[in-house]
Amino acid sequence: MTVDRDILRSIPKIDELLKEPQLVKVAGRYGTAVVVACARMVVEEKRQQIVAGNHSDLVDKSQLVREIEARLQRETRMHLRPVINGTGIVLHTNLGRAVLCEAAAQAAYQAARNYSTLEYDVRTGERGSRYSHVDFLLEKICGCESAIVVNNNAAAVLLILSTLAKGKEVIVSRGELVEIGGSFRVPEVMQQSGATLVEVGSTNKTKPADYEKAICCENTGALLKVHTSNFKIMGFTQEVSLQELTEIGHKHDLPVLYDMGSGGFFKAEDYQLGDEPNVLESMKSGADIICFSGDKLLGGPQAGIILGRKKYIDEMKKNPLTRALRVDKMTLAALEATLRLYLDKDKAQKEIPVLALLSATQESLLEKAECFTALLGKNPLIASAVVEDFGQVGGGSMPNQMIPSVCVAVEVGGVSANALDRKLNEADIPIIGRIHKDRYLLDMRTIESRDFETIAMTLKNMTE
Ligand SMILES: *Cc1c(COP(=O)(O)O)cnc(C)c1O
Repeated sequence: MTVDRDILRSIPKIDELLKEPQLVKVAGRYGTAVVVACARMVVEEKRQQIVAGNHSDLVDKSQLVREIEARLQRETRMHLRPVINGTGIVLHTNLGRAVLCEAAAQAAYQAARNYSTLEYDVRTGERGSRYSHVDFLLEKICGCESAIVVNNNAAAVLLILSTLAKGKEVIVSRGELVEIGGSFRVPEVMQQSGATLVEVGSTNKTKPADYEKAICCENTGALLKVHTSNFKIMGFTQEVSLQELTEIGHKHDLPVLYDMGSGGFFKAEDYQLGDEPNVLESMKSGADIICFSGDKLLGGPQAGIILGRKKYIDEMKKNPLTRALRVDKMTLAALEATLRLYLDKDKAQKEIPVLALLSATQESLLEKAECFTALLGKNPLIASAVVEDFGQVGGGSMPNQMIPSVCVAVEVGGVSANALDRKLNEADIPIIGRIHKDRYLLDMRTIESRDFETIAMTLKNMTE
């Protein structure tokens, strides 16, 4: 096969392409270097197509310019960018867990764009503490003596164990040696912290006497309870409640630690959360230290929140690990703004997206679905139907519990559900749905009405 020299020669020179008005315009926006790089990539691909015999026409300059523009758009768009979550999973770890409330997002923005009182005490004009912005709120809301916030809950568990039990034994039930996705395993975190794990009981049953037998006062550093947030053991089971564990710990003068995982502040029943423990009730049980994530049921930024006895928290503040695990100003600002909403239950419920999404009623979701199908119905090439289905809380909360939800099944003329799924994933604003029985579903619980237009546009673009 001979290469067609006329076709090869019809590729415009890069310099010539850069003079095209559209490319001059985009060079003003993105900088010449990126435009040149994209032009080179597109031209090189074209050359290879021609050499391989896959391009039998002369190269059309304006077509090439359009391809360069499209390439430029793909290359310059943010790699970390918003998606539309149509999975129905409210706390989707891969999609960034909790969406922040407006006040938190604004606070993070202000902290990012200005100097701030991060570690400055305006009353004394002296150095302040970065923890002072949220500890008083946590104390007020949760009724704890003291609080400290670190990078995430995994860091919180590490800091707690390293401070209170390094070189000592920590007793944990065999039924609670949890692995959370992303390689957080209780036994491994324990090892990192320098504490020694002492397992008691069996996978399905642990009794108070099992802890009592394992306690050896010189060597035992603490009793740890871990919420089995992402699995459930059913059938012939027994676990020691936090209250019972606290009684045992205090009898032997040992701190009782509780890794709650997801730390909701409100009663679980109000959010279809079954028996998910809540922070306020856990505090009341008398545990010395409890910790949980900022971006699970609390609905704030990624953080590990540690509450409890002042004497233990003060020790943690002195641990050099605290410096390595510290949270940044944007996180603190967002957390403070989120916590302030919790001072007023109604406000929290309305304004914190996680709570609003979880408490949305079936009727309101049906209404949303009908608005969405009506919008999609304007395009004759798109078919849609309202389907009642089930979603999940996610974020390692309520593993078995499927919460009733409403979906819209979408079909675009002749495209299979799998192909549709792939295409929507690759959109500028990716749309993440799920496939159930060969149907492509978008769950209305996690999609905001303001995103309907974007979805309709993306689907329309696919039909062209
Ligand atoms: C989620 C979870 C963690 C880890 O929390 P991150 O904030 O993701 O680090 C630890 N323990 C339990 C029980 C959890 O559910």
